[in-house]
Amino acid sequence: MAKHLFLLPGDGIGPEAIGEVRKIIAHMNDAMSADFVTDEGLVGGCAYDAHGAAISDADMEKAMAADAVLFGAVGGPKWDSVPYEVRPEAGLLRLRKDMELFANLRPAICYPALAAASSLKPELVDGLDILIIRELTGGVYFGEPKEIIDLGNGQKRGIDTQIYDTYEIERIAGVAFELARTRKNAVCSMEKRNVMKSGVLWNQVVTEIHKAKYSDVKLDHMLADAGGMQLVRAPKQFDVIVTDNLFGDMLSDVAAMLTGSLGMLPSASLGAPDGKTGKRKALYEPVHGSAPDIAGKGIANPIAMIASFAMCLRYSFNMITEADNLEKAIANVLDQGIRTGDIMADGCRQVGTGDMGDAILKEFAGLSA
Ligand code: NAD
Repeated sequence: MAKHLFLLPGDGIGPEAIGEVRKIIAHMNDAMSADFVTDEGLVGGCAYDAHGAAISDADMEKAMAADAVLFGAVGGPKWDSVPYEVRPEAGLLRLRKDMELFANLRPAICYPALAAASSLKPELVDGLDILIIRELTGGVYFGEPKEIIDLGNGQKRGIDTQIYDTYEIERIAGVAFELARTRKNAVCSMEKRNVMKSGVLWNQVVTEIHKAKYSDVKLDHMLADAGGMQLVRAPKQFDVIVTDNLFGDMLSDVAAMLTGSLGMLPSASLGAPDGKTGKRKALYEPVHGSAPDIAGKGIANPIAMIASFAMCLRYSFNMITEADNLEKAIANVLDQGIRTGDIMADGCRQVGTGDMGDAILKEFAGLSA
């Protein structure tokens, strides 16, 4: 059956990075009968230039209808002064909101060849493979009231509200347990139940749904501050970490630094399964931005984007062997000492975006043959 991919390359290095994924898709169609059908749209600054909006309604409809969306990056100095509601990032926020992408998956994988580039000792991160699942549409970033009020005595009060309902915790925990089953079968849930009521509820709901539906998966609970400490002390103790929007924002950035460069980090955002087909809406994107400082120079690292496509194969199409092979191809190329500038090291060979993409494709084709 045809698999519909909607590509949104965006601005800056987004199009360069997605260009390397396009080569892999073409190979999979030609040599592996993958039957991908691709369409392409505009998001971010380029969409504003064309339509006066960060994403058009027509492209939004295509994103909603696709099996998966591949997103490059948005933004750049050219659009710094456009009105707030049509700024480039508004395109990504609309995609997340309209597609109801409540689960953000951020893997932190440390390829052995890059262990020395981590800010931690190589032995702590060599072979690291953890998955942080962050709740993306609730919590303190969205809760009301959210305001600054004037107290009238020369003082002001800033208010944000942390709110989680049972269903929000159940659905994100469900994603964590299901994905753990495809990995090392262990989930660590992080909250602050010692000081936050929402943390008490989070802990209860995760415990209950675990008992009711996922008791085959190992479950631990950790206070989020202790979790942050353990992430930099002994990160390999974790398999899947599930946490709320705020703690997930911070903990996933901490975990990101364990693995070296921004140019290496993929992510996925998933919605609820469709009642009829069971398929989840999904968007895959690198963690990095549009990198205006290097855009158009052909030197961007395409690995975060290619690894995001590997996540797409795994989570949207259940193409596990192909996803494993693509990730292995990335590891092999790094083992061969092939590097873009951002991850360059002594004794390695520096290449540009296209050559890095070609090297990964060659390895992938070999592994898939
Ligand atoms: P950035 O991630 O674009 O770049 C930070 C630094 O990392 C830069 O020096 C850049 O050259 C380098 N870098 C990033 N990705 C790289 C890659 N693949 N290969 C090699 N080097 C890479 O973050 P920034 O500079 O803070 O933001 C630039 C623009 O991107 C801004 O307009 C910002 O709003 C936007 N942004 C967009 C997203 C997104 O689209 N999801 C995310 C973050 C920032």
